[in-house]
Amino acid sequence: MVAEAITETQDTTTLVLFTGNDRLDYKAGHFLTIDPHQFEALERFTAFLEDLKGRKEPARAYSMTSAPEEKYLAITVKEERYVRGATKYPPLLSPLLVKRTLRGMRLVITGFTGPYTLPDSVESQVDRLVHIVAGSGAVPNFSILKHALANYPTLQHTFVCSNKTWDDVIFGRNLSELAARHADRLTVIHTLTRDPDAASRGPNIRSGRVDEALLRQTLPDPSAALVYVCGPGITQADRALARENGVDPQPRFLETVLAMLRNIGVPDNRVKRESYG
Ligand SMILES: Cc1cc2nc3c(=O)[nH]c(=O)nc-3n(C[C@H](O)[C@H](O)[C@H](O)COP(=O)(O)OP(=O)(O)OC[C@H]3O[C@@H](n4cnc5c(N)ncnc54)[C@H](O)[C@@H]3O)c2cc1C
Repeated sequence: MVAEAITETQDTTTLVLFTGNDRLDYKAGHFLTIDPHQFEALERFTAFLEDLKGRKEPARAYSMTSAPEEKYLAITVKEERYVRGATKYPPLLSPLLVKRTLRGMRLVITGFTGPYTLPDSVESQVDRLVHIVAGSGAVPNFSILKHALANYPTLQHTFVCSNKTWDDVIFGRNLSELAARHADRLTVIHTLTRDPDAASRGPNIRSGRVDEALLRQTLPDPSAALVYVCGPGITQADRALARENGVDPQPRFLETVLAMLRNIGVPDNRVKRESYG
């Protein structure tokens, strides 16, 4: 049952879920899935999209915002947009979860799973985690960060968060509070790609994209940290379209950051990735 629907930004909502279970067995970084077929309000739209696409609409994955030691389970959903001429189909589930899911509503979730988690003996492997996220890619890293700060006292964190504008930043206040509370262990850096006032918004708020200079700064010893990268990546649809046009798919946030990490010498086995494509 939806215990609370918290508006994070104009297109992003956190759904706090009450499951009736006192202990939920999941790891920070895991996701759950939600099947769009369960929503009566989407019935005709789902059937129409299935006819157009010629395949059944799959369940959508949503990472947990909450950390396992927190009382309630929570997910944070960013609404996908339909942009004429740019997107092939209107998005199915995220508009409903973000704009039309209210306190008291019931939904069926399936979970919990995913490889984007901390290794068991993380503290014996590294003393630093570097989080590099874009948009709703902040969700699993926020959970991992909260969990690691509470449970692994020797781990230091740098949290690099990329968004279009300051108003698009999810968990901005929570990240500032965590950074203030754990000043010796957490640095948060925001990069804003389309915010003309970025540089005047405060320390550690930059204008532009995540670039190699920033990665070198956060990873002075490229093999001494574990790096968690999450954000938009090339989708199957991008690949299919590129194949049709006889070109390579355009790299998105995930592929671009992974290439830069390779360039600055971060070993592949030090990088965990999750694509929201
Ligand atoms: C492991 C994982 C964790 C995730 N966690 C989160 C999270 O915490 N928060 C979050 O907001 N999102 C998360 N996502 C993304 C989420 O699962 C959904 O993809 C997102 O909410 C969009 O779903 P939708 O139904 O609204 O849009 P969709 O209906 O899936 O459409 C999205 C886009 O894909 C295009 N598209 C769809 N089908 C086709 C097709 N057949 N051919 C061509 N183009 C097509 C549409 O035109 C549209 O542009 C996660 C994804 C993964 C894989």
